[in-house]
Amino acid sequence: MRTEPPFTRVLIANRGEIAVRIIRACHQLGLATVAVYSSADRGALHTRLATSAICIGPAPAKDSYLNINALLTAARISGADAVHPGYGFLSERADFARAVTAEGLVFLGPDADTIATMGDKVSAINAMKAVGIPTLPGSDGAVGDDMDRIEALADTIGYPVLIKASAGGGGRGMRRVDSAMALKDAIDLTRSEAKAAFGDDTLYLEKFLPHPRHIEFQIIANGEDALCLGERDCSAQRRHQKLIEEAPAPGIDRDLIESMMHRCEQACRSLKYRGVGTFEFLYQDGAFFFIEMNTRIQVEHTVTEMVTGIDLIAAQLQLAQGAPLPAPPQVRGHAIECRINAEDPRTQLPSPGKVNALMLPGGPGVRWDSALFAGAAVPPHYDSMVGKLICHGDSREQAIARMHQALTELKIEGIHTNQALQQKILASDDFSPWQQDIHFAARLL
Ligand code: ADP
Repeated sequence: MRTEPPFTRVLIANRGEIAVRIIRACHQLGLATVAVYSSADRGALHTRLATSAICIGPAPAKDSYLNINALLTAARISGADAVHPGYGFLSERADFARAVTAEGLVFLGPDADTIATMGDKVSAINAMKAVGIPTLPGSDGAVGDDMDRIEALADTIGYPVLIKASAGGGGRGMRRVDSAMALKDAIDLTRSEAKAAFGDDTLYLEKFLPHPRHIEFQIIANGEDALCLGERDCSAQRRHQKLIEEAPAPGIDRDLIESMMHRCEQACRSLKYRGVGTFEFLYQDGAFFFIEMNTRIQVEHTVTEMVTGIDLIAAQLQLAQGAPLPAPPQVRGHAIECRINAEDPRTQLPSPGKVNALMLPGGPGVRWDSALFAGAAVPPHYDSMVGKLICHGDSREQAIARMHQALTELKIEGIHTNQALQQKILASDDFSPWQQDIHFAARLL
């Protein structure tokens, strides 16, 4: 097993709730923390909770949270000896992982080469196929420029097909095509969007599934061995972005889930994967199809924590310090997470502003992960998610009932949020395991 040099001071290359979450885990383990912030995040909660805080640039993310040089300088000045990337921003950039390691710092994520392989969707799919994980019918690699060849590929796959950017993420960089007539325009458009958004216009084709669920598997691994901590159902989505996540996934045969868990563990062993990660699948008509891997902690890791009792961020830090993998946990009860976004309920557009008052829910099984406080600013420059409400219960019904009550109690004044929308989804008959698919939230809204 590879052991990392010991570290004592962790720089968190992120903001918002995940920065707060990581700071809490570090301090509980006796590690000092360094927060970084843009000028828009002056006074933000993560800067107040960390051992020290350094401004790394102006508000636009490309000048601050995405600025590798500024982050490395902050690490040098503050004496940090490890970097946690959180999610989003630079968390899946192999060049960042490489730059951090080249500075002699511990990168709290897998090796740069693994990030490069698994962060690129085309090479991730190929790597998964090679270890026997089922994937969707598709173009078997990048499609290139030859339109005749692309048309032939789409014909073979069968319409509808999905055009996807290999570098895509966050629900962006994909387009459904229903007929050969629409293919060329859709390819051109997706290519130019991918170039602009990700700086990489590599595209591939995948069979579009009409009514799948999104099921993903959480893993933790040490380069030799791996442990799968079970699955999450993230089918409640809007525009390919997750709104509600839960664990375990209701209504799926447990033997099938367990065989998938073993296959994910085996895939980690053959990839010599190290750290936490998530294998994402679509599930339809009793079959699983791999779509992508996230080589970092995810927003929805909390529901796995609630049902397994494992603090995933602490486990990630301890693993990097040479601790053994956690023992396989006993899954207990059911957990649901609602993402609370600052958005206008009518237009569904971001609603930044100042939080004037904040009233928080409580009681058994209720958890609130957020960087909000009364007086906090929600800047317009970043993702609109401002908090995560997580409820645990003995059963799915109890978790949902607790979530309804918690959403009612949660009052965030000064900005608009999607709380009413979340209540509507939870109350819908389609939120049952048998009706749920990735399109049900859109149908409802
Ligand atoms: P991202 O990296 O942007 O999250 P994913 O590949 O994980 O992209 O896909 C995001 C979502 O898009 C999935 O959760 C699912 O809702 C939808 N999706 C992806 N691939 C397909 C497919 N082949 N057929 C139908 N829906 C899909």
